Amino acid sequence: SIFTIVAGARPNFMKIAPIIHAFQNQQKAGVDVQFRLVHTGQHYDKKMSGDFFDQLNIPEPNANLGGGGGTQAEQTAAIMVAFEKELMEHRPDLVIVVGDVTSTLACSIAAKKLQIDVAHVEGGIRSGDLSMPEEINRMVTDSITDHFFTTSEIANANLRKAGVSEEKIHFVGNTMIDTLMDQMPNFRKPEGEIFENLTPGNYFVMTMHRPANVDQEQSLKAMIDAILEGTGGLPIFFPVHPRTAKNLQNLGIQAPNLHLCEPLGYLEFNYLVKNAKGVITDSGGVTEETSVMNVPCVTLRNNTERAETIHMGTNELVGTDPKKLKPYLEKIMKGEWKQYQGIPLWDGKTAQRIVDILIKTYD
Ligand code: UDP
Repeated sequence: SIFTIVAGARPNFMKIAPIIHAFQNQQKAGVDVQFRLVHTGQHYDKKMSGDFFDQLNIPEPNANLGGGGGTQAEQTAAIMVAFEKELMEHRPDLVIVVGDVTSTLACSIAAKKLQIDVAHVEGGIRSGDLSMPEEINRMVTDSITDHFFTTSEIANANLRKAGVSEEKIHFVGNTMIDTLMDQMPNFRKPEGEIFENLTPGNYFVMTMHRPANVDQEQSLKAMIDAILEGTGGLPIFFPVHPRTAKNLQNLGIQAPNLHLCEPLGYLEFNYLVKNAKGVITDSGGVTEETSVMNVPCVTLRNNTERAETIHMGTNELVGTDPKKLKPYLEKIMKGEWKQYQGIPLWDGKTAQRIVDILIKTYD
């Protein structure tokens, strides 16, 4: 059988890497299975894409659709047009999409309209917040998905509530955590002067890229001011997402302990996270990684599609109001944070489960 695997943006690469490796292991064992890797080009610069291929051992894509840039609709349309062509030239038995980015949505629609089955890795999660493009991507993708590979019981429950039949729901765990566990021995301190004197356990890491936090200069400033105030002068490392860069530059915020840098490689970023006193973020994936690494994490959002990181992990939802941040940071500073309880099936073996199911189903 032939499977086409789609990846487009930074948070996709760590989710596909272990699936590809599991397919490669099957091939090595003599199983007759082929895959094509399609990069939609949604993220195309080296720091948001190429570096992850090198670090995570992902092979060169078989096709690159060049679908980056533009508005939500322009990007969705460009990827759909190019992916339809790809599918007509190389028709697979199944298309595998991951996560919740524009590529996930565009490619699942293009595949399903050609009557090709769709598997959604990380299906079923919901924030309920339709002001975020990711939630729309999840809902539309899941409405036409044939095989849901889920990360949590909450996702399973969401799907059941939506009337998805039981045999389509495969509770397998989290491929992002496969990558985390696999790569942990390779984590390495980032290069550069700002990192030279870092003391493990004595600094914060922050990331911000959600429109609600970064598109308005004044609210971005208010949040950074609140973070500076609550972290007692400890160093803060802030790898800046391209979306955030322009407004941050305009604001010209400077503080001796605030260290801005370009987006980091996976191994460098997670070295910083693993050794941090705490993490402040509006990312989804980062809250999963901090949980498993037992690092305190506060999320600058009003909701999350990953509630298990709050119930069983180290994540707390603070919201987007900077005034709410202080008590959370105080708790981290005092070392009074909850511990990771373990999350079922986040054990590093998820991709193997997925590939076993797919090979059996498409024998
Ligand atoms: N990440 C990284 N370098 C960075 C920031 C994040 O490698 O400078 C990784 C992080 O470890 C996680 C993923 O990127 O695996 C999260 O991506 P992002 O926050 O862009 O997306 P989200 O999870 O919010 O969709």
